[in-house]
Amino acid sequence: MKRILMIGTGGTIASGDTEAGLAPALDSAAFLRYVPAVEALCRVETRQVCNIDSTNMTPAHWLDIARAIRESYDDFDGFVISHGTDTMAYTAAALSFLIQGSPKPIVLTGSQKPISMDVTDSKTNLLDSFTVACDGRIPGVTVVFGGAVILGTRARKTYSKSFGAFSSINYPVLGVVRDGVLVPYITPAARPAPLFCDSLDARVSLVKLIPGVSPAMLSFALDHSDGVLIESFGVGGVPAGDGGQFYDLIRTAVARGKTVVVTTQVQNEGSDLAVYNVGHRLKSDLGVLESYDMTLEAAVAKLMWALAQSKDRDAVRVLFYSPVAGEILAAPEDVKNKTDIKIIKT
Ligand code: ASP
Repeated sequence: MKRILMIGTGGTIASGDTEAGLAPALDSAAFLRYVPAVEALCRVETRQVCNIDSTNMTPAHWLDIARAIRESYDDFDGFVISHGTDTMAYTAAALSFLIQGSPKPIVLTGSQKPISMDVTDSKTNLLDSFTVACDGRIPGVTVVFGGAVILGTRARKTYSKSFGAFSSINYPVLGVVRDGVLVPYITPAARPAPLFCDSLDARVSLVKLIPGVSPAMLSFALDHSDGVLIESFGVGGVPAGDGGQFYDLIRTAVARGKTVVVTTQVQNEGSDLAVYNVGHRLKSDLGVLESYDMTLEAAVAKLMWALAQSKDRDAVRVLFYSPVAGEILAAPEDVKNKTDIKIIKT
């Protein structure tokens, strides 16, 4: 019988009703008792890393989860992480960079309704996740939710209430679980053993552009961060107004060793900075990076991971653009086969 480690972190799936709204109450051993069918599938051990609403997740928690998996990696055939849905996509992306190429499944799941409710998606999501973790044909970090198996770097919460809350962005779903049976469509590449990394640079922030946004917002973010993502419009660019203040701020920040990444508010198809004049110069003259087809969640986690590896501008560029876990398909040709940047193994 397969051995699976279940790691509890909180979220709706573990929540009870309080006078002040839903709050995590059950540990993973307690809510697993609601799904006895799991015991028929595998031998489960549980470990609680935290018990929080995922709104309170931080990069330090991502490192704790990665450490819990690393410490017991050899003792289990797969891992199921129960997690709040709100920031699950960020955690899935971060784990994809912290545990690269895992040949064993590392499945994140959660639910829109608590397990104690009569009508809930939690039992199906849990059982489906254990099915994927035991099956083993889809390795690496995935999100299993609403019957879909989604690559960890491609998941995004796209519905705030529906049971099918997650979508796979710019990438097909890896498979589906129907009536308890996994139907795999795509098998992600795995290494013989995972490459573990154990550091992230959490000094990363995001500035979302709105029409008329003040350059002061970007200035503040640049002052307080090693890396800033600018969530711009369409295929990407920054406003030329205010005497080109955005350009000046970016130029100064890049010269001070900061990394600036332009990403887009448009969910599908990604950025292409070179298309319009408002983006072209950022790339050619100012050394700004872009997210291409990466999700925002993946771009945030990847930037934290890359900046923890190196602060050297060229090294960060290569690390950020090199595919690690299926997160980028449109990487520039010159970094595709670059092997001279060594990833820090721990
Ligand atoms: N606020 C909850 C959380 O992310 C929502 C959920 O789990 O569905 O922890």
